[in-house]
Amino acid sequence: VTQEPAGADATGPDLHRALARRYPRRRPARAVRVLGAGSDDRKAGRELLALLDRHGHTVESAAEALVAFEVPDFYPFAVGLDLVAPVLAEYGTRAQRARWLPPLRAGAEIWCQLFSEPGAGSDLAAVSTHAVRVGDGWRLAGQKVWTSRAHYARWGLLLARTDPAVPKHAGITCFALDMCAPGVEVRPLRQMNGDDHFCEVFLDDAPVPDRDRIGAVSQGWAVALRTLAHERSALAGRTGGTVASDQLLRVAHGRGGGHDGVMRDQLARAVVTLKIQELARARSAALARQGRPEAAASGEKICEGAAVRAAAAVALDLKGPEGALAADDAWSTLFLTGPSLSIRGGTDEIQRSIVGERVLGLPPEPRVDKTVPFAETRR
Ligand SMILES: Cc1cc2nc3c(=O)[nH]c(=O)nc-3n(C[C@H](O)[C@H](O)[C@H](O)COP(=O)(O)OP(=O)(O)OC[C@H]3O[C@@H](n4cnc5c(N)ncnc54)[C@H](O)[C@@H]3O)c2cc1C
Repeated sequence: VTQEPAGADATGPDLHRALARRYPRRRPARAVRVLGAGSDDRKAGRELLALLDRHGHTVESAAEALVAFEVPDFYPFAVGLDLVAPVLAEYGTRAQRARWLPPLRAGAEIWCQLFSEPGAGSDLAAVSTHAVRVGDGWRLAGQKVWTSRAHYARWGLLLARTDPAVPKHAGITCFALDMCAPGVEVRPLRQMNGDDHFCEVFLDDAPVPDRDRIGAVSQGWAVALRTLAHERSALAGRTGGTVASDQLLRVAHGRGGGHDGVMRDQLARAVVTLKIQELARARSAALARQGRPEAAASGEKICEGAAVRAAAAVALDLKGPEGALAADDAWSTLFLTGPSLSIRGGTDEIQRSIVGERVLGLPPEPRVDKTVPFAETRR
């Protein structure tokens, strides 16, 4: 989250007092929670963001103070806070920042990310939603999918093709879409963990004024890459700390899991995976301090997903039929959310390619359509 430097009472007494009046002190985590799964308390999140805003803080500048309290989940606001704010800082105009950042930071306006399409996920540069110039604005047509929280977002960060005559990466433009504009239809999808956080979005000649274009025309791929880099770091960071070994061991002790040889073996493997996740996070933080935040984000994201899945699988085994049947059990929600961690924000396979190419310097994957005009590519 981009912000002004923290003021004199950065983590000072005022903010602490305000937080303490409203929220209980944090205790060692007993419940497990991942990326807002099973919960969607926008009101509570908005109140906290508004409180921080009144004290001149953002989530990031208040991070030190926030860890001391049981505060609500920010996940409904994550696209705005983690992706859109830094992207606007880099690519937005002064007028765009003035218009969008204050309500975004205060939690008054939620953003969603309109990137993925039925034919463009891992190969995001294949987006075929197109934007055509009409007067001093644009008209958008096409379909987006897996758009988290589109059904209550006020704005969407969107990629659209503005020039199909050039190779795919060169003809994309980034826009902010008013989700209340005519021609925007949102249909929520239900996920296997019970959430209905993500949606299909249909665009039928939806108007976008040119002032809502982010970055230059047909330079949207650069904006997309920056957004994805912020997303990788944020997803890894936000999942982090969800499950600690001691939470898992607590379940094991409660169920007598320590006496069963097979279960002990599975537990040990899960605890090792959680430890690797912790080390990956520490490495990522160290690289971030050296000014290379992106170098470890892909590896960290892979480790986070593996750790959550391993821990949730063992917890459910320990709980037996009760774990599988209790739909409102946090471990059960975690178990059903785990697979999505290897997909959202770029699949594990794509993260491995990023590590191979950009971190280890291995030869790039073959990309046969890189230089072909988009209109001539096979889709
Ligand atoms: C919970 C959740 C929330 C999401 N929220 C959003 C959102 O808010 N906004 C948004 O725009 N998108 C969102 N997504 C979409 C997500 O970014 C895509 O699902 C993801 O990028 C994968 O794209 P895809 O589903 O089209 O799969 P595909 O790209 O079709 O991939 C299918 C399989 O092929 C593999 N594969 C594809 N290409 C390669 C390759 N080159 N090398 C090796 N393997 C490959 C993949 O790893 C995968 O296993 C969300 C997804 C989930 C699960």
